[in-house]
Amino acid sequence: MNGRRRTINIPIFVPHLGCPNDCVFCDQHKITMNAYVPNGARVRGLIEETLSYAEPMRERVHIEAAFFGGSFTAIDKDLRRELLSAAHEYRDVLDGIRLSTRPDAIDNAILSELEAFGVTAVELGAQSMSDRVLALSNRGHTADDTRRAARLIKERGFSLGLQMMTGLVGDDRETSLYTARELIALSPDTVRIYPCVVLQGTALWDMAKSGEYAPQTVDEAVSICAEIIPMFARAGITILRVGLMENEILSKGEVMGAYHPSLGELCYSEVFYNAACAAIEREGAPKRVEIHVPSRAASKMTGHKRRNIERLKSRFSLEYIKVKEDAGLEGFEVKIRRV
Ligand code: SF4
Repeated sequence: MNGRRRTINIPIFVPHLGCPNDCVFCDQHKITMNAYVPNGARVRGLIEETLSYAEPMRERVHIEAAFFGGSFTAIDKDLRRELLSAAHEYRDVLDGIRLSTRPDAIDNAILSELEAFGVTAVELGAQSMSDRVLALSNRGHTADDTRRAARLIKERGFSLGLQMMTGLVGDDRETSLYTARELIALSPDTVRIYPCVVLQGTALWDMAKSGEYAPQTVDEAVSICAEIIPMFARAGITILRVGLMENEILSKGEVMGAYHPSLGELCYSEVFYNAACAAIEREGAPKRVEIHVPSRAASKMTGHKRRNIERLKSRFSLEYIKVKEDAGLEGFEVKIRRV
């Protein structure tokens, strides 16, 4: 584990390689912006590049090579070993190697190989724990595949990461909450939450255009994620990311659905808004309040352009609100003080 050290990930994108599937929402080339196939030399180059600036702060950072973008354990064995072997050459300077893959591309033989190359964390694209949603998304695996793979990964001592999506075909609020509860039951170390973004050129885009599927809106995604985030946090699970990374194609507008460049910020801001509402309600009907939040949470509490403050004023007829950071508070704790 990296304690309180900041993590620097060296992202090595492996776009769509080896994936036997065609999930309706997927266009890995658009997500990763990389159409080429990386090789060992490329892996070494990326690691060297990061080490050139990160090594001087070695004691303060946790440096990991991260194979993302496709189904890493399903790619061609020789290529997979070439990539892993290149990363493994840096085992004395890297703190770990992580990768993401499909739940049905994990078995004991693969995990032995990953162990031999020093892989420390395996992330599974679970996406949903509803078999109906998985089938409608053409995922090609079931929720039980995720349960089985997660159990194996943990048994073998890897850090387990799970990724879920909201707003998939056939998904709704209850199903997303069910997915979050089922993922928590698997005791992952980390999670990523990806509200569904509909990319042009995917089957989902056509379904949305024909009216067969209604993409989740940003507001809907924020509302559901604001419920899911505290669930993971209460279970002590680290949330690595909420929402897709910004990249050129995503910002060109060729998308529908829950895409916003600061989606994660909006979701965390909503978590604090909900917590403040509950705390104010417990206080009765105060007119003037200080809202105490943990260190570095004031801007999330305040919201973009003071949106949360204006909403709280209007909802509770408050005359005065001041947000204060309080080092004694943690996570999403919010306390109200009448002034
Ligand atoms: S399993 Fe992953 S890489 Fe393969 S089609 Fe689905 S989302 Fe894309």
